[in-house]
Amino acid sequence: MNKIQVVPFKSNFIDSLTDYVLSLREERDLFKICIVFPGKRPSIFLMKSLNEKLELPFIPPQGFSIDEFMEFLFGLKRSEQIPECEIDLIYLLYKAIRTNKDEAYKGFEKITESIDIFVEWGIKILKAMEEIEIEWGHETSIEKLALYDDNIIEWARNFLRKFRTIKEKFHTLLRKNNLTYRGEIYRYVSEHIDEIEPLIPFEKIIFSGFYALNTSEEKIMKYLFKNNKADIVIQTDEIDEVFKEIPKTSPYYFHQKWKRKWGVEFEKLSQDRKGEPTIKFYQSFDTHSEVLNVESIFNNPGNIDDFAIILPEPSPLIPLLNLIVSAYNNDFNITMGYPFRRTSLSNIIKYIFSLQFTKDKKNGEYQYYAPDYLNFIRHPYIKTLNIINGDYEFSDLVNTLENLIIQKNREELKTFFSLFEFEELLRKNSGLIRIFGNKKNLQEIIDRLKKLHELFIRKFEDVIIPYKGAKILKECLEFLYKNSQVEKYPLSNQFLWTLFRRLEEIQFSLFSISEDFNSPVQLLKFLQNYLNNTTIPFSGEPLKGIQIMGLLESRNLNFDRVIILDVNEGIIPGVEKYDPLLPQHFRNDIGIPGYTEKESIYAHNFYRLIQGAKDVHLLYKQGKLESTDENIRSRFVERILWDKEKKGEKIKPLKSVFKVETVKDYREFPKNEKIITYLKEKLEYHSTAIDTYIQCPLKFYYRYALHLKEWEEIEEDIERSTIGIFVHEFLKDYYSQFLNCKIEINKKNFMETLTKTLKDKFKENGGSIITREIIKKTLERFIRYEIERIKENDIYIRGLEEKITTVIEVDEQKFKIKGWIDKVEEIEGKYYIIDYKTGLIKKPIDEQSPEFAESRELIRDRMKSLQLPIYIYLYSKGTGIDTNSIRAQFFNLRNPFEKNIIDNTNMEIFINGLRYILKEITNPNKPFTPDNSDDNYCKYCPFDLICPVC
Ligand code: SF4
Repeated sequence: MNKIQVVPFKSNFIDSLTDYVLSLREERDLFKICIVFPGKRPSIFLMKSLNEKLELPFIPPQGFSIDEFMEFLFGLKRSEQIPECEIDLIYLLYKAIRTNKDEAYKGFEKITESIDIFVEWGIKILKAMEEIEIEWGHETSIEKLALYDDNIIEWARNFLRKFRTIKEKFHTLLRKNNLTYRGEIYRYVSEHIDEIEPLIPFEKIIFSGFYALNTSEEKIMKYLFKNNKADIVIQTDEIDEVFKEIPKTSPYYFHQKWKRKWGVEFEKLSQDRKGEPTIKFYQSFDTHSEVLNVESIFNNPGNIDDFAIILPEPSPLIPLLNLIVSAYNNDFNITMGYPFRRTSLSNIIKYIFSLQFTKDKKNGEYQYYAPDYLNFIRHPYIKTLNIINGDYEFSDLVNTLENLIIQKNREELKTFFSLFEFEELLRKNSGLIRIFGNKKNLQEIIDRLKKLHELFIRKFEDVIIPYKGAKILKECLEFLYKNSQVEKYPLSNQFLWTLFRRLEEIQFSLFSISEDFNSPVQLLKFLQNYLNNTTIPFSGEPLKGIQIMGLLESRNLNFDRVIILDVNEGIIPGVEKYDPLLPQHFRNDIGIPGYTEKESIYAHNFYRLIQGAKDVHLLYKQGKLESTDENIRSRFVERILWDKEKKGEKIKPLKSVFKVETVKDYREFPKNEKIITYLKEKLEYHSTAIDTYIQCPLKFYYRYALHLKEWEEIEEDIERSTIGIFVHEFLKDYYSQFLNCKIEINKKNFMETLTKTLKDKFKENGGSIITREIIKKTLERFIRYEIERIKENDIYIRGLEEKITTVIEVDEQKFKIKGWIDKVEEIEGKYYIIDYKTGLIKKPIDEQSPEFAESRELIRDRMKSLQLPIYIYLYSKGTGIDTNSIRAQFFNLRNPFEKNIIDNTNMEIFINGLRYILKEITNPNKPFTPDNSDDNYCKYCPFDLICPVC
């Protein structure tokens, strides 16, 4: 028998293979040879290398990836084709399961209830079937073992118990449509290789660069190799280690297993390159610092076009491209898959579809949920649409519309709007007429918005046929492509192209006009799930520029200079993911490979790549960043470091260094005379303004001196404000019956009034069910507490929603201060000012430790908030009641039992603190400065985008 040809790790695989192919030329023409690689890309490198070595025209050998080769062999005997679109396979699988009336199918109806739910599981089931077929899994064992295996979730167990029946049904449906799939192709070819072999038109097949073989591959390769039809060229080290027990995680495990099982000799095809690669290690803390490390590597001498950058994980791709294109303007080639769900196109589709998922129908007209609508029009692709002529931007219209919607929500608690109502809000706005010149101009612009509504929203309202759904989405994307900034984003053309293809596949698929969908929501959820499971395949021509590729895509290739990112545990090697269909223990039992073997594949690809290079840079993340799991460098890095330390080498990983240039003046905002006059004479100081200054003077400046508008978080904000406004109004109305009387509450009556008010308030304007439920639960909790409270004391209401203003003198300067008090109660001669809170109380009273403070920072740390002392001060001034008899409290409606109450014990200290703050605010020599000492505070600051320190 022939020997297997071996290229050592420290040799260029393609180079050695080229020499081997050329050596066969003496016996036969090159075009009579075919070369099969595990993937597609190495063929291109081989052809380039042959070209360079031959230096004359030639008819090249045929290059195949193993998938292409299997399809080719299958085609020699059978006529069925793999469908263009994977979704056809999933649809037939769905039909195979759904059309079977067998009782035993009960138990996994949940995932086959409708095709939109099935699509995600269908992809997994199809993969599992494919693997079982390719690996020649023991099908009878699958069914028997699944019967008793409680560690497999129920629907998966039911599926496995009926594996053969479903497979048969699936194959029958494939046959009817003259289709096949990868699992069947591999299985068929490996079962019939003796019949297929005489039909193969090549004189010699060279299987090149294989490592771990699946069962079908092994059967085919072994048959052809033993019959002298095929040669095998692999890349490995330790070729003489046949007697040694090699661990399953070793980078040589599969080749050694292969050698023993086949009883075959290995023969060295080329010699090792002399010398070891130079390996450098870089520690980063997040993706951006990793990219920064890449930049520092680029800044070293040498041509950066020589680099291959390996991304085992796709997230650094976009920041990396930004670096390469903006800083270096170099050519690049990408060969890897990028998940569609990470792109901004996936985001805009999510927003478009969400409008349909949450819409409601009132009086025959669709009403849309305002937060979803705002998400849609605020998306950068929509907001920057180039659809208005003249000096105006579409974003002007969007900004106004946002404000009008939020205002309407505040005033009327309205959260659902018809499209007509959105358009009317603009038409009736006199400010807009001024901006756009006259009513006619405004009408033209509103007509553009109407067109947008028609295309992106109305057309989806009743769509249930896949062909139509895909067509409308394509129209939307075409519109965005022509009218937005989409093409300016990196790789957006490739993203769009893939998306168009996927949608066209759906348009021309087997089920394009099927009536399986009962509602637009079902169809759109199906489209969203399917697209989000799509990977954008990048396969650049590797002729010039920096090569960027996934780890798997680098198989069989060697580069002199290599940068590998994310060499972390869980990535290299990847983690064992829980597979609900074929869990680890089950795999072993049915004879298909498990996870331990996969580690060996990672090790092989990794060590092969770095041993073959001269200059290697390994980048990893270390440590924990906010809520993410802790990043740990890969065991492969540990192993290399350990080997180096054993040799006495001291390795110090390089860390990314950020250059932060600060300009002092930039962080200080001086006060001019106009501002000081305004702050002294005009501004009415609400306690929130004082608290804002205490936390961050710059934020106070932005909000109260410059009156900058805040960017509101749509969904949360509308939801939160709806809850807050309703609760405050309801409690005010309900308690008004007890004004100046003793409170007598009956829970039943309270809840009935609440239910009726909720119904009335939300009847016309919609409102999400969740919001209503939150309100109900909050007030139910409140009333339970309140009833206990009134049992213990006689409580009188002395004030509701009172605005109180007064003046405080500081060094002869009078400042207006004001407060809005929710409720004042009198209990046993004492007055209690109550401030309702529906959100979190960020500054618990018991954390206050008021001592005399002579700086803002000390006031911030010791007193935290002056709101309640200001309320006591205001109420006392406004009513003449002594502060001794007044208490003030935050009433947390989420947790009424929380104690947040103060009396006048430290009033003097607090009021001196207030005086100090007012004096500092108006001190012309004290510029406004940012205070970013509290990360959490800055995290929610609406001005973080313009803040010089955040
Ligand atoms: S981000 Fe932080 S430091 Fe900057 S203005 Fe806001 S609160 Fe102040």
